[in-house]
Amino acid sequence: MEEGDCVFCKIVNGEIPAEKVYEGDNFVAFPDANPKVEGHCLIVSKKHFANVMDMPASLGGELIDAIKSVAEIKLKEGAEGFNLVMNNSPSAGQIVMHAHVHLLPRKKGDGFSIIR
Ligand code: 5GP
Ligand code: ZN
Repeated sequence: MEEGDCVFCKIVNGEIPAEKVYEGDNFVAFPDANPKVEGHCLIVSKKHFANVMDMPASLGGELIDAIKSVAEIKLKEGAEGFNLVMNNSPSAGQIVMHAHVHLLPRKKGDGFSIIR
């Protein structure tokens, strides 16, 4: 997909609205339009990288900071834990070809399952 047609690039540059719950120098986070659980958010690189294999390792620390910032918000809102999921390539379920991490807030007995 061309960057010009990329839905997450359009959210990053404001062409498509999204309620940002976090913004740093290199990552933003906003709610998933089709949440799998309550509070499901996406942590998205501001630059267009197709997936984690395209991302420089130097962004790793900022990615962890972004994840922890969003997780703190969700834990304060009542989540008891959270799952992190990153789909890399269509074979692994990636639909939007712009690197992003799913943060899925969890509560005991919520009935959701990723691995078990
Ligand atoms: P993937 O399978 O690529 O990891 O997941 C892409 C996610 O992006 C999906 O969960 C989908 O609901 C979400 N998504 C797709 N388009 C939009 C959009 O325009 N806005 C928001 N907030 N989420 C989107
Ligand atoms: Zn993009």
